[in-house]
Amino acid sequence: MFQSFFSYIFPEQCIECQKEGAVLCKNCLKKISFTPHVSHLYLPQVYLDKLEVLCSYRDSATIKKMIYSLKYFSASHVSEILGDMMQKNFILSDDICITYIPMTWSRLFERGFNQSYLLAQAFSQKKPQVLLQKIKGGTRQALLKKKERLINIENSFIFCGSAVPDKVCIIDDVASTGSTLNECARILKEAGVKYVSAIVLARNE
Ligand SMILES: [Zn+2]
Repeated sequence: MFQSFFSYIFPEQCIECQKEGAVLCKNCLKKISFTPHVSHLYLPQVYLDKLEVLCSYRDSATIKKMIYSLKYFSASHVSEILGDMMQKNFILSDDICITYIPMTWSRLFERGFNQSYLLAQAFSQKKPQVLLQKIKGGTRQALLKKKERLINIENSFIFCGSAVPDKVCIIDDVASTGSTLNECARILKEAGVKYVSAIVLARNE
């Protein structure tokens, strides 16, 4: 209801051509070229078994804008479009459990939503599994260099699932070094998960 009220006062505009009606119009959506691929992590120790990326952050200005509006303008409905893009490009087997990267409670309170959760929900069309909890805030990863990111994220998460699935796929918006995804994979494996993969919209290297 709030959304429709908000749309009435501020009708949505396409982030590319400014046409009113949707955050991304059908024409502009058609123009996005996806290059789904497997990406590699260059970290001292890799726990993540596979990282799949929908498109390159550098090559897709539209995706970049979409991710930006998803994160910073509370445009949680943007996640439905992005989740749909992921769904059309990646198929997961039924036995894989879908989860997301959690935020600390204070960060969640500040932002009001977790974009990783929204994407995972839009992608899987159901509530993603709660397997991890973020217990330490630290500095936002985006503000740090590669080495600092590794130290910053260490011991930030704990396993909190009610059961231990065999296979897990983590959904997130952007991966840079991949240190957050890798740390989550480490915690999941320590808890007994055998295979951990991740799907992100874009890799920002
Ligand atoms: Zn458009």
